[in-house]
Amino acid sequence: MADTPSWIERDAAVVWHGFTQMASYAENRPVIVERGEGRELIDVDGNRYLDAISSLWVTTLGHAVPELDQALRDQIDRVAHSTMLGNGNRIVIELAEALAPRVPVDGAKFLFASDGAAAVEQALKIAFQFWTNQGTTTRTTYLAFGGAYHGDTIGSLAVGDGGFGTTVFDPLRFPVLRSPSLGEPGAVEAAVAIIAEHGHQLAAVVLEPLVQGAAGMALVPAEAVAAVARAAAEHDVLVIHDEVATGFGRTGTLFATEQCGTRPDLLVVGKGITGGYLPLSATVASERVWEAFLGPDLSERTFYHGHSYSGNALAAAVALRHLELLDEWDVLANVGERAAQLAAGLAERVAPLAAVAEVRQQGLMVGVELAPPTDDLRWGRKVTATCIDRGVLIRPLGDVIVAMPPLTITGPEIERIVDVLAAAITEVTGA
Ligand SMILES: *Cc1c(COP(=O)(O)O)cnc(C)c1O
Repeated sequence: MADTPSWIERDAAVVWHGFTQMASYAENRPVIVERGEGRELIDVDGNRYLDAISSLWVTTLGHAVPELDQALRDQIDRVAHSTMLGNGNRIVIELAEALAPRVPVDGAKFLFASDGAAAVEQALKIAFQFWTNQGTTTRTTYLAFGGAYHGDTIGSLAVGDGGFGTTVFDPLRFPVLRSPSLGEPGAVEAAVAIIAEHGHQLAAVVLEPLVQGAAGMALVPAEAVAAVARAAAEHDVLVIHDEVATGFGRTGTLFATEQCGTRPDLLVVGKGITGGYLPLSATVASERVWEAFLGPDLSERTFYHGHSYSGNALAAAVALRHLELLDEWDVLANVGERAAQLAAGLAERVAPLAAVAEVRQQGLMVGVELAPPTDDLRWGRKVTATCIDRGVLIRPLGDVIVAMPPLTITGPEIERIVDVLAAAITEVTGA
């Protein structure tokens, strides 16, 4: 019998995976998913994995959720997509109406896109044109933070702090002002001082409230976010909150901003908005921002921007049903209970391990930072590979093990994550 190529071989032959070195892709034993069921993914050989990273932070209720599947079927019988440029779509209106009272933005207006990076890009451009529309041409830069990650397009890379091999793009990044990550000592004072000195040059300050996910779950104190908001208001600088990772329940509230007690001018959401089903994101603008764009038909005040699949109807239908289910199933209550259980388990079984430098957690966002004695040990990669062998799918960010289970995770599943993580760290590091 002729050797038939495996799924991994077929994959590596034609698919280019993001953030992945393709020369060693196949050796790193990738999981080739065939289907999903609840919080588990099932590979082409029938092996089951607990999806403890929510498919890179997007899955909220689980996979193959009958109610979300039905919402998708119902919408496909009506229409899959129609353009948002100059025209509307009923399900998109219904989604925006349902979201408006729930987002922490005054007089919320929604500009939809498909990915987080694209929605960040929209927010940056809106903030810039907000000023030029009012005759201010000197506010041409942004304040961003150490450790920030806002996506991979050129504009979102510019406000992001690099890392992940993206320094190669430094010549393409436009210059921004950068202040230390808000969890660091003295960071609030530094940010406030920059805003005071350079406020007149700033279109906006852009930050991730409560957690900088891609920085390895760096925690951002709520008071720091509030202090930056006060300084920005004092110097009339717009505030953009990037809640692509933290939005839709991850941190224990629907939006992390709620815990900071502030109302940003622009809010960026993505990832969990469709429960992990379909690509959808949105830039949410306040009434004040929106009004600066109103003017005569075909005038320069218009926001000349929009993607082909902005406000996709199938994605909107799933997002609307998802928002209802978060309430119907009281998902935030589960997040609170499971987060407390996870914190207790990690404190008891993982934090004391000699190889663990720090455990950071906010809601169901967890980073376990390992402390390898030398840099070349690839502990992060080895620990997650060991977890995957034991049926728990996670992915490292360098030597930080990230766990971000779906919001409907159960008590026994949390126990399993803690068990497997503790065992994998012990096995790999000998500690
Ligand atoms: C993932 C992420 C983005 C980018 O979203 P994509 O959908 O991957 O483009 C932006 N900001 C934050 C905080 C994120 O976690």
